[in-house]
Amino acid sequence: MSQLTIALTKGRILKETLPLLAEVGIVPSEDIASSRKLMFATNRDDIRLLVLRGTDVPTYVQFGAADLGIAGKDTLLENGDDGYYEPIDLGISRCRLMTAGMVDAPPVTGRIRVATKYINVARRYYAEKGVQADIIKLYGAMELAPLIELCDEIVDIVDTGNTLKANGLEPRELIDVVSSRLIVNKGALKIKHKLIQPLLDGFSSLVAARVQRESEAASA
Ligand code: AMP
Repeated sequence: MSQLTIALTKGRILKETLPLLAEVGIVPSEDIASSRKLMFATNRDDIRLLVLRGTDVPTYVQFGAADLGIAGKDTLLENGDDGYYEPIDLGISRCRLMTAGMVDAPPVTGRIRVATKYINVARRYYAEKGVQADIIKLYGAMELAPLIELCDEIVDIVDTGNTLKANGLEPRELIDVVSSRLIVNKGALKIKHKLIQPLLDGFSSLVAARVQRESEAASA
């Protein structure tokens, strides 16, 4: 029997992914949140789940170690899109990819120093604006970097903006809006089409129903 492997992003995206999976009929056979396992069987004999760091999800899908994946658009923008399609915007875990800096900082003259874990996104963004930027790779706690003058700006994801505010920073320019996407390995879509297509249809109907609900709520 042919099997499908779906790579999920752990953390806040996972919390919003599990209800969607349940709605398309996929339920892990144990509680993912309270387990230290990385691979989970499901109620469907032909589907298993991997729980990974977001940055590893596109890699697993690109190389076919997972057939499908769910990851934030920020991660996909940083990673590039080799080897997979991105057919569905699931509309969950929405946030914004932004530049941010210290409140009331004087404008930078000359080269700007930017700290971020999104070095590819940042390089492209500043190059497109024609701004000369030195990009510094960090793995976390980006908000600290301008505070101790490691950099002039950061590129990070912003949801409520509270984390920036708590560290004396302000959002500056929007680079992209972010939400989680379903991605599919290109080869798997051909070879396992019969298994994958019903799932794509299921996710698409869920998303269409949500968009409909949201537009009704907005016009009410
Ligand atoms: P906030 O204080 O609400 O602006 O949240 C900012 C922090 O929460 C960011 O530095 C991110 O690390 C994290 N965050 C916010 N939204 C998301 C998301 N959709 N996916 C992953 N991490 C997020």
